Amino acid sequence: MTNIKTSILILTDPDIPETSRRDGEQLERSKEGTIKEGRQVERKRKHESDTGKYNDDDNLENYKKKTKTTREGSSARPDDTKEAQETTLSPGDFIFHAVLGEGNFGKVLLASNRRTKKTVAVKIMAKKILLDGGRDSTLTERRVLELAAGCPFLVKGYGTFQTTSNLYFVMEHLGGGDLDTFLRRHKRMEMNIIIFFMAELVCGLEYLHKNGVIHRDLKPANILLDAVGHLKISDFGLALEGMFGKKTAREYAGTSGYIAPEMEKGRRYNAGVDWWALGIILERMSKRAIHRRDPCAANPMLPDTLNHPECLVSDILATLLWKRPSRRLRAAASIRSHLFFQSIDWKELEAGMVDPPFTSSTVSTPRDRNM
Ligand code: ATP
Repeated sequence: MTNIKTSILILTDPDIPETSRRDGEQLERSKEGTIKEGRQVERKRKHESDTGKYNDDDNLENYKKKTKTTREGSSARPDDTKEAQETTLSPGDFIFHAVLGEGNFGKVLLASNRRTKKTVAVKIMAKKILLDGGRDSTLTERRVLELAAGCPFLVKGYGTFQTTSNLYFVMEHLGGGDLDTFLRRHKRMEMNIIIFFMAELVCGLEYLHKNGVIHRDLKPANILLDAVGHLKISDFGLALEGMFGKKTAREYAGTSGYIAPEMEKGRRYNAGVDWWALGIILERMSKRAIHRRDPCAANPMLPDTLNHPECLVSDILATLLWKRPSRRLRAAASIRSHLFFQSIDWKELEAGMVDPPFTSSTVSTPRDRNM
């Protein structure tokens, strides 16, 4: 599966103060598995600067103009508190510990706030690369990160700030890795975990859609687990705002393999594209489902057996993967009442009262790894 966005790697952050810069060099060592002398890292940095990877002042000016236009032209509410936070935070307020992950447009670092000691994840994006890659949606990403504060199933942002060359998004840190890694590790999953994961994703998606936001890049790599196993949707870099009512969009965006047919065909689309992506994710998870018995195969005509989640997976999959978007969206509107979710108490789930159904027996064993 290839992401349609350009690939980048921010190697070091010239704006991180000297002490943290050393941390940055250490990070590079651990990531590449080879020890790079400080001078080599310095050389690399200089090379990037020479080749225009950083500090392109012309583009910076454009960037400033662009962000101003977007801000003025958008329907976003000005948030004085956040603006204040932007001016007060700087890279020097954080100690950077490790690389949590890299995307096409940025690197995410584990950091702690020097003053509050709080552990956070900081996404660093070079403005030059954002401009070159045609990504001017950072304000949307920031606003959705703020919006996410109202939903436990979305990664929330604590604040943003910028330096001359980089943008910084300070987010809550999720310690359980991403769902993509989880699925690679766990070749076998109990059905109740799949149902639980799907239910949390439904809550996250519904919240976004209710607020007029389409994610457009829902995929396991953009779904993070917290330390106990709750899921949160992350990376709002391709999100689209203001998608209320019958509003549709046409711009092609997302990751191949997860893109809905209507977008693939260049047609107008709506929030249905996210439900399609959720269907693809369920398809991937359901291949790992542990079938204790196969009630469908045993006697598919018995009403009792039809209520088994194993039988219901194919039904809900068909719902999410309807080719016709209007039908898919209609079905998604009542997805909570699908029998697949009969074991879910939605109120309790949303109140954070449901623990993830993890036990040692639900994870893969070495013999599963050959699958
Ligand atoms: P993309 O190419 O998908 O646009 P990106 O550049 O926007 O990616 P993210 O997807 O946001 O970057 O993050 C890259 C990786 O960093 C994630 O896959 C995840 O492993 C890690 N990561 C991101 N946010 C967090 C977080 N809040 N807590 C822990 N890890 C995170």
